[in-house]
Amino acid sequence: MPRTRETVLEIDLKALTHNYRFLRSRLHSETKFLAVVKAFAYGSDSIRIAQRLEALGIDYLAVAYVAEGIALRDAGIKTPILVLHPQSVNFDIMIAHYLEPSLYAPRILKEFLEALKKHNQKDYPVHIKFNTGLNRLGFWENDVDFILDQVKGKNDVKIVSIFSHLAASEDLNEKGFTQSQIESFKKIASEVNQKLECSPIRHLLNTSGIINYPEAQFDMVRCGIGLYGFGNEAKIDKQLKPIATLKTIISQIHRIEPGETVGYNRAFTSQSYRVTATLPLGHADGIGRHYGNGKAFVKINGKIAPIIGNVCMDMLMIDITGIECKEGDEVIVFGQDPSAEKFASTANTISYELLTGISQRVKRIFME
Ligand SMILES: *Cc1c(COP(=O)(O)O)cnc(C)c1O
Repeated sequence: MPRTRETVLEIDLKALTHNYRFLRSRLHSETKFLAVVKAFAYGSDSIRIAQRLEALGIDYLAVAYVAEGIALRDAGIKTPILVLHPQSVNFDIMIAHYLEPSLYAPRILKEFLEALKKHNQKDYPVHIKFNTGLNRLGFWENDVDFILDQVKGKNDVKIVSIFSHLAASEDLNEKGFTQSQIESFKKIASEVNQKLECSPIRHLLNTSGIINYPEAQFDMVRCGIGLYGFGNEAKIDKQLKPIATLKTIISQIHRIEPGETVGYNRAFTSQSYRVTATLPLGHADGIGRHYGNGKAFVKINGKIAPIIGNVCMDMLMIDITGIECKEGDEVIVFGQDPSAEKFASTANTISYELLTGISQRVKRIFME
């Protein structure tokens, strides 16, 4: 890769392939693989990522909202797409794009069946979500009869899968709770199978679930962050490759004297002669103010430089005292080192939030 001359998010599609193969290798060969590409594929680019995953033979894709699924269909993606959190106002357009809803409550199920009547569909695929302890979205175990009552004898709808979501799959202190979720999901699944007289695809595990509870892989897994290079665990992170690298450049260098201040509200006061650099990257690009004032570090020519003062909308300033560098030099914000996970942790947040927050203003470039 030539050195960058502006702020870019570099997306390594080879790393995506590597991560997919690594995660796949931890599963039974017959287990289906659903790739979660919501939120622009965790801040990268949902279309390019979905295209690559489709080429790799992925079984299913998932997005959070209907509009995200439509963008994939408009780009020619043919793989089945599960919409995890559809709103009923979008049901008509969702059906027109053959996107498959997660139905998670009596209200949403009834509204979907109502919408389906207008569309003259046969066996339209739907997914039923159960709440087993996360208490976010999902039917309760004792809703099974209600659901079956609603869909029984109807040929316009088909339950292709049932699923649930773990609350703490990355936290081994919560093993007991996770086991109880697994048991509860098993019980629901066998009840549905019995009463429905068919066997929908069952799926429960996210990335950390794949790592920590492979015995609960059922028929499919739903993997997000692992594909993008993070396993929520140091041992696994070593085997995955972050697909995204945020790079920028030095716009200007200043030499400041003791007592001078840097940035808005004069938040940084220099105690000595310092050298500072201004970067074309700010909170409007997704590097929030919580990374300022000495919390986070970036890398220039292999050397660590802290962010000083308040992060501005379009810029931030770093202390480069003692680092050999010049205007125009490349700056690594996160990537291989520091990783997004490490960068995020300096401000008490997680890779998921940092990655999905990189705004659409930042140019995405792709390495094949
Ligand atoms: C986002 C999401 C996932 C993916 O989780 P990761 O931890 O990124 O693997 C899986 N299932 C559901 C329901 C989700 O909302």
